[in-house]
Amino acid sequence: MPIRGRFAPSPSGRLHIGNMLSSLLAWLDVRSRGGEIIFRLEDLDPERSWDEYAQLMAEDLRWLGLDWDGGWPMEADCRQGRRTAEYEAAFGQLRDMGLVYDCWCSRSERLAASAPHPGEERPSSCRCRSLSEGERGELRRRGRRAAAKVIVPDREIAVPDGHYGEYRENLARGCGDFIIRRSDGVFAYQLAVSVDDAAMGVTRVVRARDLLSSAPRQKWLIETLGGTAPDYCHAPLLVSGEGRKLSKREGDLNMESLRRRYTPEGLCGVLAYLCGLTDRPESVSARELVGHFSWEKVSREDITLPDWV
Ligand code: GLU
Repeated sequence: MPIRGRFAPSPSGRLHIGNMLSSLLAWLDVRSRGGEIIFRLEDLDPERSWDEYAQLMAEDLRWLGLDWDGGWPMEADCRQGRRTAEYEAAFGQLRDMGLVYDCWCSRSERLAASAPHPGEERPSSCRCRSLSEGERGELRRRGRRAAAKVIVPDREIAVPDGHYGEYRENLARGCGDFIIRRSDGVFAYQLAVSVDDAAMGVTRVVRARDLLSSAPRQKWLIETLGGTAPDYCHAPLLVSGEGRKLSKREGDLNMESLRRRYTPEGLCGVLAYLCGLTDRPESVSARELVGHFSWEKVSREDITLPDWV
């Protein structure tokens, strides 16, 4: 089967150096094995997505020397904001299987449309699943709109990760039932990403390690919906000197600032060195790295950003 990877950025801010490292690794992973890569814009949450950032993300990836074979912007519909009908269909399928219930808890709601990053994993056990019809009716009458949760099995899902080895989670005991649609109608990240990876024929997901814990949920959702899950392969995280994960808010490490301070080969050389692909932070093009790429060389530890970057 041909290898098909993807870039799947959310246009909520400018890409930062950590996003560039995982994008470079996703690209090298696919290109070193003759595969193709698509660009899917993850503008699921209208409140946190801006088209200016989408354009800049595409430009920043191209600037580094990364290219892609299909998807946005060539295919304008390869963006989550335009795929509601597909999510609706998957949602209906899960509901017909008796796996969906209304949840009126508000705590875990806000971030359900975006990918969970450390510290944002949401506690999910609640008593909405066991409410009586009368109680549900009462909540609806009061005008409260419910989010929708999917019922997960009390079973271990094993994900063979290409870089971190096998990652297992018993869904019921680990993450518990999780939100697949927010109360404002926006479909949640976990549902959208699973539907999209299956529908777009993605065979390989390379992304930062903070999403490793989402992989069992996604694999299970895809298989429950009758699809084939991709291979997952997670990349080490770049963290700041204090061990903090970088965020798109980190001004001096985002691409606006990095493009002022580096050439594409200069930044590529720094990224390759930081993750272990090369011995020195010497300028190198993304293309030149293809022939030398191997996950064996890539660190499994989080990478602390040195202060000279
Ligand atoms: N769109 C997500 C993010 O930018 C990544 C989703 C994924 O790779 O599964 O955090």
